[in-house]
Amino acid sequence: MEFPFYDSPDTATIICCHILERQAPILYVSHDEDDGMWQFLCGETHETDEAKLVSLKWVFDLDKAATFLEQDSTTVFC
Ligand SMILES: [Zn+2]
Repeated sequence: MEFPFYDSPDTATIICCHILERQAPILYVSHDEDDGMWQFLCGETHETDEAKLVSLKWVFDLDKAATFLEQDSTTVFC
């Protein structure tokens, strides 16, 4: 599976603690045009200390697992 982002895998990315601890799915994604920073949040409101800094690669690895799980339940294998 190819890395689907134009940005480098080590691009600074903000995620909330819920996604970091896999307590919530990614429901809100934003990409800041100015500094290129990504944000992946669960859609709830957060305190500043609930925002965590990871790499884009980290989110990709997480999302890859989530996508796989989703496909697993909906795809019929021939
Ligand atoms: Zn959250």
